[in-house]
Amino acid sequence: MMRQFELVERVAAYEPAVNEDLLNRAYVYAMQKHGTQTRASGDPYFSHPLEVAGILTGLRLDSASIATALLHDVVEDTDATLEEIERSFGAEIARLVDGVTKLGKLELQSEQSKHAENFRKLLLAMSEDIRVLLVKLADRLHNMQTLHYVRSPEKRSRVARETMEIYAPLAERIGMQRFKDELEDLAFQYLYPEARESVMARLAYLEDEGGDLTQKIVERLRRDLAEEGIEAAVFGRRKSPFSIWRKMQRRDVAFEQLADIMAFRIIVDSAGDCYRALGVLHGRYSVLPGRFKDYISVPKPNGYRSLHTGIFGPERQRIEVQIRTRDMHEIAEYGVAAHWHYKEKGDRKDAPQWEGRQYGWVRELLEILEHASNPDEFLEHTKLEMFQDQVFCFTPRGELIALPRGATPIDFAYAVHSEVGNTCVGAKVNARMVPLRTGLKNGDQVEVITSKAQRPSPDWENFVVTGKAKSNIRRFIRQEQRQQFTQLGRQIIEKAFRKEGYDLTEKALQSVLKKLQAANVEDLDALVGQGHISGREVLLAVVPALREKERESKKNQKVVPLSRARKKKNAGHVAVPIKGLIPGMAVHFANCCHPLPGDRIVGIVTTGKGVTVHTIDCDTLANFHDAPERWVDLAWETESSEEPFIGRLHLIVTNEPGALGSLSTVIGKSAGNITNLKFTNRKTDFFEMLVDIEVTDVKHLSNIVAALRSMPAISSVERARG
Ligand code: MN
Repeated sequence: MMRQFELVERVAAYEPAVNEDLLNRAYVYAMQKHGTQTRASGDPYFSHPLEVAGILTGLRLDSASIATALLHDVVEDTDATLEEIERSFGAEIARLVDGVTKLGKLELQSEQSKHAENFRKLLLAMSEDIRVLLVKLADRLHNMQTLHYVRSPEKRSRVARETMEIYAPLAERIGMQRFKDELEDLAFQYLYPEARESVMARLAYLEDEGGDLTQKIVERLRRDLAEEGIEAAVFGRRKSPFSIWRKMQRRDVAFEQLADIMAFRIIVDSAGDCYRALGVLHGRYSVLPGRFKDYISVPKPNGYRSLHTGIFGPERQRIEVQIRTRDMHEIAEYGVAAHWHYKEKGDRKDAPQWEGRQYGWVRELLEILEHASNPDEFLEHTKLEMFQDQVFCFTPRGELIALPRGATPIDFAYAVHSEVGNTCVGAKVNARMVPLRTGLKNGDQVEVITSKAQRPSPDWENFVVTGKAKSNIRRFIRQEQRQQFTQLGRQIIEKAFRKEGYDLTEKALQSVLKKLQAANVEDLDALVGQGHISGREVLLAVVPALREKERESKKNQKVVPLSRARKKKNAGHVAVPIKGLIPGMAVHFANCCHPLPGDRIVGIVTTGKGVTVHTIDCDTLANFHDAPERWVDLAWETESSEEPFIGRLHLIVTNEPGALGSLSTVIGKSAGNITNLKFTNRKTDFFEMLVDIEVTDVKHLSNIVAALRSMPAISSVERARG
């Protein structure tokens, strides 16, 4: 643990006006308050605030921020009170500690609802003094660095998700690239361990192949610039695993070149030199079109400045280059913290001063806070850009409901409660009636109007966006259809009995359930209603003697044997391990997406043909968006099957000797059996192909995909999707 005098020395090294007394007292106070508390690692709790303070000295923050870091958990976790802090350390420190404590409550809670009042306070706290946010980010960074000590997997992934969704975007918002990268990469590790591992393996492979290439490019660029009289430092830097992964996802590509994993950076003395260095590069190498960006003349909103360009560079590699001055570099890495200075003492104390327009958004936020006449207006204005794909709305009682972007009042209603959703007849947004398909905006106050007589409409499914709303609507429609089948079936049976002069009794039906393979009477009614069994078959089952009579007199109505569909159903029903099928329906697996046990699946009903099973992300499903009544929710009975299933992959393979041979070896080694193989596109340098492989389940196929991805000759492997 860092000793008291070491901390003071660290601060004194960059802040001549260090408040030694404050730091010493905060150190002792926090250590005493946390006392014998320990962290998940077994370390004394006090090591945590101390590490957080240490991280902030790396940002060269002022004494007040460092003291706040030391004290940031005492109010939440010990018997210390804010009043006590104010008495001992003054109003400024108390205000900062209070801000950090409140910000700590901005958590993704499972019920997804927080009181608006709290939420506003948190925003207020964080905008009131940027130092609150800096302490909170350092706190989160240290918690993420030590997350592996936390035992509960649920807690680990909750904290990681929060970091990814709230804290990393906040760090980016204030320009702290370094913090953002580290937070994201740590969170990535917990959220998608397999993805990260595969990226790391690929990185290691590419670095093995082109290791000193990076150094060669760096030296060549340095020489190029020196020859033109520009003094510059040149670096080659590896991109973070998370940024590589996100890029792969966004563009749906593999990374195959050094250029995809390295970024080159040129640091010069002045803005003028930036443009001169750019001139040198563009003069000596071919420029890759569409890559040049000038963030020096037009900085990003978070203050970032730099020139970006892409060239077909030395060693015949496409490379990305960023050119900036040392100052710009500091800001790029540390954002708002790089600007840390204070006005002279005596001049409006406490007021941090950051350089003018760069942090305009903070000022803007403050202005809105001061002038907004009502809280909703304030929320709408601030736009909550850190939650880019969410909208926050309020119930009339002021509870906050978080929804995905594009959500409608129906989604809102289901988010409040399923029953509210099921009985929703209309909605008022900001006290005005709106159509149910209206998209909600940040800060909207939504009042759902319900009626006991209302039922979900199939049409709703076309515009709702939340899973909760979708599944509730589908369930309801399914139940309702089933009810109709049941009623119809009962009428048919009654009619068949009446025709032959028999009375229909519940007992009679009970007695033939087994024979007709129905689970209960209602099920039997439904089978008849859907046309899988005729009313007469039920009658014949109850009164077998009638059958004899029938054989004798040929004039009798032609006896329909168990219909075809019914036989098929029996065969299918036994062999297909799927839940949610309507008894009596034939089942097919779609040829477009080849669903495997373990995939999320959905069924599409076709009259006379039964149910076709698709994966939930199959492109073909788009054809059925207008026919929600044909959708059936399905799930696998088991995640894996004895019977082989066919999985289909789309591959792009480099045309090199032995590529196809090694392909079949790799698949064979993973216990996959190739049943079909088709080339869809053949070029001189690569080919595209579809491969059908017998596998037991989706996991099995994923293993094969992973093995294929690690082959250098294969540039892309994807499941075929429609
Ligand atoms: Mn903490």
